[in-house]
Amino acid sequence: MLVDGIIVKLEESGLTGRGGARFPTHLKWKMVKEAKAEKKYIICNAAEGEPGVFKDGYILKNYPQEVVQGIKLALGAIDNSTVAVSAYIYLRKDYYQRFKEELEKLTKSLPITLFKKTGGYLAGEETSLLEVIEGRRPAPRIKPPYPPQIGLFGYPTLVNNLETFYHVAQIAEGKYKKTRFYSISGEVANEGVYEFPEDYTVSQVLKETQNWPDFRFFIQSGGGASGEVLLPDELEQTVRGQGAIVVYNRQETDLFALMEKWVNFFLKSNCDKCVPCREGVYRLAEMIEKRKLDKEILDDILFVLEETSFCALGEGVVTPFRSLISKLRDGLGLKD
Ligand code: SF4
Repeated sequence: MLVDGIIVKLEESGLTGRGGARFPTHLKWKMVKEAKAEKKYIICNAAEGEPGVFKDGYILKNYPQEVVQGIKLALGAIDNSTVAVSAYIYLRKDYYQRFKEELEKLTKSLPITLFKKTGGYLAGEETSLLEVIEGRRPAPRIKPPYPPQIGLFGYPTLVNNLETFYHVAQIAEGKYKKTRFYSISGEVANEGVYEFPEDYTVSQVLKETQNWPDFRFFIQSGGGASGEVLLPDELEQTVRGQGAIVVYNRQETDLFALMEKWVNFFLKSNCDKCVPCREGVYRLAEMIEKRKLDKEILDDILFVLEETSFCALGEGVVTPFRSLISKLRDGLGLKD
């Protein structure tokens, strides 16, 4: 495969990022390729840390060769013959332990380093991980500049999710069928990771995996913390974010306990850098702990989080709470 050819093929394939933002992959690659610098970096992000999202572990277990092949193609496309380009595979701690040996074999004699993530969920955000690799605590950087402009150690850096590199290898071999991976968990019979077309609806994914519930239910689409709550009549839409579906039994789920789980996750994950998120999540946790929601204060907190948080984690707090509260308000004792 000609190195230039792969970027053209990525464009033709319509591949977008798999970490949630859905940015066209070929544009990122082009930006890093065209940037003028004496050094460039590639980072394969396998740091997934949100509850209900576990597809990267599945891909590492089943397709490590394809992942490394995708990184090799990136090294070639960015032209490591004229510029010093090296890559990192940035792995969640347990993935590092489980897959280190296999990945070391596959990356032997390649300019690819395995890096064990330190820190929690936020350490997987594309600029926080730059901080971590540079030896600092995970905290997001202001954007712009974006990593393809100024990234790791100040050099242009291509950060893609692990799943993206898997699909890049498929595209190079003409095997890409516009699929993506779905993590399914919660009150389901067949929990697991499945590969289906990326335009499948939530309903199709649940039905084809024999996971459509036979009880009253609701789901979270995208991730088990930041995902949107959807009711059964809203499932003719594609799966959000990182492709996770979590199913909940409507009768048996204690909604306050569920919100407590979410808010504790965000409390543990945020970095305290900005006031809206640091204070907002804390106040939200206080209210949930008392099991008494004040709709007006709640709306204010969510509005400020959405409009003024420094990074996507703070904005991501809003979706699950707002969707749950608007759709299942009876179970929360809220009246109009
Ligand atoms: S939004 Fe939250 S996680 Fe992001 S910078 Fe602010 S405190 Fe940190």
